[in-house]
Amino acid sequence: MTISVPESIGGQAALQQHVDDFMMRVAAQSPGETEFHQAVREVVDSVMPLVLSKRVYREAKVLERLVVPERVIMFRVVWTDDTGQVQINRGYRVQMNGLLGPYKGGLRFHPSVTLGVLKFLAFEQIFKNCLTTLPMGGAKGGSDFDPKGRSDQEVMRFCQAFMSELCRYIGPDIDVPAGDIGVGGREIGFLFGQYRRLTQRFNGTLTGKNVNWGGSNLRPEATGYGAVYFASEMLSTRGESVKGKTATVSGSGNVAQYTVEKLNTLGAKVVTLSDSDGTIVDQDGITAEKLAWVMELKNVRRGRIREYADHFKGTKYLAGKRPWSVPCDLAFPSATQNEIDEDDARLLVRNGCYCVSEGANMPSRPEAVDVFLDAKILYGPGKAANAGGVAVSGLEMNQNSGCMRRSREDVDAQLCTIMHSIHEGCVKFGQEDGFVNYVRGANCAAFVRIADAMVQQGCI
Ligand code: NDP
Repeated sequence: MTISVPESIGGQAALQQHVDDFMMRVAAQSPGETEFHQAVREVVDSVMPLVLSKRVYREAKVLERLVVPERVIMFRVVWTDDTGQVQINRGYRVQMNGLLGPYKGGLRFHPSVTLGVLKFLAFEQIFKNCLTTLPMGGAKGGSDFDPKGRSDQEVMRFCQAFMSELCRYIGPDIDVPAGDIGVGGREIGFLFGQYRRLTQRFNGTLTGKNVNWGGSNLRPEATGYGAVYFASEMLSTRGESVKGKTATVSGSGNVAQYTVEKLNTLGAKVVTLSDSDGTIVDQDGITAEKLAWVMELKNVRRGRIREYADHFKGTKYLAGKRPWSVPCDLAFPSATQNEIDEDDARLLVRNGCYCVSEGANMPSRPEAVDVFLDAKILYGPGKAANAGGVAVSGLEMNQNSGCMRRSREDVDAQLCTIMHSIHEGCVKFGQEDGFVNYVRGANCAAFVRIADAMVQQGCI
């Protein structure tokens, strides 16, 4: 679907002026929130022609409303560490947009968490959730708490203090948080336990729960598997598959681990993993046995990825480096935002990488995205490529409300179908002379549905 710029606008320069003027107002309303501005600009660049070509969108001020959260909750989290010292953190929940369903989005516990970071994530989440076609609004939350180096008891006390405040604002048909960086199965367990204690309710308020007590089969795997399914969809447009390809993966947490697992299953060779201290390179491939060792290292012992190079002979550790200098066919950034800069992107393309599927949220800086688009490689932005996680969370909500459970095979089949339909939506809106611009495709496919809902629900 080609979106033409109305003649009355006056061409490309005038269109750019509309984008710049809009972004100036956003920056003035939210000073210093650079990641939020970055996420908004990417969407506005894509959808401005749609807004300008439809009077009803302009009159309803859909874009202006979308960039203002419906509600922001900020609170103090006070807890005691193992030495009895009082510790204080900031807690947040950004309920960005509830047009399409209960607010839905993860919780991030990391020292880099600020309101601006959570607003960017919540904004992205509106579009991602919409692409899944499941009834979910967009939200994100978290805290500047750093779980690294904390005992299980400390993490539990923090989670209980965090939930004591958050529980007033969430519920199965209000707002359904999940995990993200620093919030995995252990933290969801502590958060849910405290929610249940305070509200005396056992319901689907959190997703990512253990399968023993209401969690969905395949939820831990879903984001990583989904990113690989999305890469497979992109490759299939060129008659190719992931089989036999060499892949680099960044991060070594939840998303990275299951990305490696699915790539191995489908016959690719993964040669890197990383954390915030450095990257390991294993040219023989991170096999299923080696991945099992990594999972034990990261999820049980909570160690650092450099230990991999000590344990597996013939592998390298690149201290302080990201994986992007290692030659590959496929790249799966799965750590954090802005982890690929312009130089990294150029290096990837120069070394032969022609497919990037983002497991992380906004891992590529705007200049890096431009490099990928200019080179016309297959580039799947996070809001499309990593939507598998929230899609299976949506299925978990659905299972909880119906008091039922789906099998692994059933969930996997649904995940495949959802990733296929997200890809189709991107292709429909992102075709440009035989090339698919998945950034524009994802943004426009989601925006139309959100904008129409905003108009239909009136001035709220
Ligand atoms: P985890 O906490 O399980 O793992 C995060 C990984 O990224 C760790 O290896 C961590 O290393 C690394 N990392 C974190 N911050 C940085 C940094 N500043 N620089 C370099 N490496 C860093 O998180 P997830 O795997 O759940 O999330 C990873 C990404 O995927 C995030 O962008 C998240 O928003 C996104 N995502 C996650 C979903 C999910 O279902 N979990 C769903 C959709 C998107 P270290 O141990 O050194 O901190």
